[in-house]
Amino acid sequence: MTTVDETAPESAFLDSLPVVGHFIGGREDEGTGTGRAAVYDPARGVPTAHAALGSADDVNRAVAAAHDAAPGWSATPAHVRARVLFRFRQLVEDAAEDLARIITSEHGKTHADALGEVTRGLEVVEFACGVPQLLKGDHSEAVGRRIEAVSFRQPLGVVAGISPFNFPAMVPMWMFPVALACGNTFVMKPSERDPSLSLELARLLQKAGLPDGVFNVVNGDKQAVDALLEHPDVDAISFVGSTPVAEYVYRTGTANGKRVQALGGAKNHMVVMPDADVDTVISSLMGAAYGSAGERCMAISVVVPVGQKTADMLRSRLVAELETLKVGEGNDPEVEMGPLVTGAHRDKVASYLEVASEEGAEVVVDGREHALVDGDGFFLGGSLLDGVRPGMRVHDEEIFGPVLSIVRADTFDDALAVVNEHEFGNGATIFTSDGGTAQAFLMGVQAGMVGVNVPIPVPMAFHSFGGWKRSLFGDHHIHGEEGVRFYTKYKTATVRWPGVDVSKQFVMPTNV
Ligand code: NAD
Repeated sequence: MTTVDETAPESAFLDSLPVVGHFIGGREDEGTGTGRAAVYDPARGVPTAHAALGSADDVNRAVAAAHDAAPGWSATPAHVRARVLFRFRQLVEDAAEDLARIITSEHGKTHADALGEVTRGLEVVEFACGVPQLLKGDHSEAVGRRIEAVSFRQPLGVVAGISPFNFPAMVPMWMFPVALACGNTFVMKPSERDPSLSLELARLLQKAGLPDGVFNVVNGDKQAVDALLEHPDVDAISFVGSTPVAEYVYRTGTANGKRVQALGGAKNHMVVMPDADVDTVISSLMGAAYGSAGERCMAISVVVPVGQKTADMLRSRLVAELETLKVGEGNDPEVEMGPLVTGAHRDKVASYLEVASEEGAEVVVDGREHALVDGDGFFLGGSLLDGVRPGMRVHDEEIFGPVLSIVRADTFDDALAVVNEHEFGNGATIFTSDGGTAQAFLMGVQAGMVGVNVPIPVPMAFHSFGGWKRSLFGDHHIHGEEGVRFYTKYKTATVRWPGVDVSKQFVMPTNV
């Protein structure tokens, strides 16, 4: 396997490629920043565009546009805001095939998988269309003589979203539909590795009738993120990405007085009990570990079989499955797993196979031996490790690629301890036919999203998405009612209607 050098094309050749710019105040431009980042077609291993890396000035322009649009948008009745989202919903559905093609061309995941992420994003738009109901407040008719109280939620102002490469459609759609529905204006900072999708969504929002300035996109990297974190007119930040950056964004954003939710990395375990249905386990595990080349924050990267017999059975079935796993270009309908997003990321994932051997784990199936690895695309075959133990880097660190580790446990309690002692707590699942064991797992497991006989327990849009421990910094999960709470401030009004004599009162009012 040759290591990919992605620095070479970042010079003269890049200048001839199209620029993926910004969308600010209803107009597209390439910004004032001179930085550029190559955007690759991962299946061919060649740059196809370059993302404009937004400067502080570009961020200032986007925040100013959002700030100017905020009074008008927040004063627009919730049901009128919802109408824009209803139209947007239809436009996204009509464009889904095209959007999926863009995702595959920049991310590498299969077309069917890309379509799936568009659908999961649309579900959040559908949830946000119900915002008039979601924003209905509480009312008490009489808290004193002719005094009533009403509580309601108001928008924060300007919200920024910062998203990772692995879901260029779904993760932004976890954020802005709810934020906009609640009356906020928005600045989106997508991943520089697949920057085009957010621009497409901005165009569709404009087509749906969203006023200019309400939704803006600034492409970029750390420089744009820092400008957002420091900008006094940004009221809140939704971040999704790796844990070190999530922690940085949370600490810097909150230090600057912003409300921040920062969703981080993951290492998701699947516990397999001896009584689990074997065929269901194997088909679930293959999709959850190797789908999207393992580049999902809810991918299963560790399987914890209970008992040596269960482990041996799983291992031999997985080896057989990996022999027939179809790896290739994401637009081929036969393909089950596409390339990784960049050559650098592929090389990093592959390096963990070396680490595994050094740490004393067994590389049962080595993805570096796949025939496509020596081609131009950023391919790696599916890999399987056995004999992995907590404390090894391959267990403790997020690999974010098609590498599944087997950690053998003797008992259910041992398996649960493996899950709970991990620093991350995004998702975890158990496969069993015993209700008592399932219930004990659900109650005892330290993770935010938990499954029983479901491999990737991603909550629906009307529930909320978020992990525990170092998989989330902040108090709110994303979308669902938690999303509405995150994107709004709570206000309570106490109103006395005229017609009551009010005497001077120097003691604390008790309204009796
Ligand atoms: P990343 O942390 O490298 O990048 C995320 C965003 O932060 C991007 O927009 C990027 O431009 C920006 N960024 C990167 N480095 C930065 C820095 N030093 N300072 C400021 N901003 C910076 O993540 P990624 O590689 O794009 O995505 C993969 C990661 O995202 C994985 O760790 C995965 O688990 C995580 N993820 C988590 C969830 C979740 O819901 N918890 C969902 C999807 C992905």
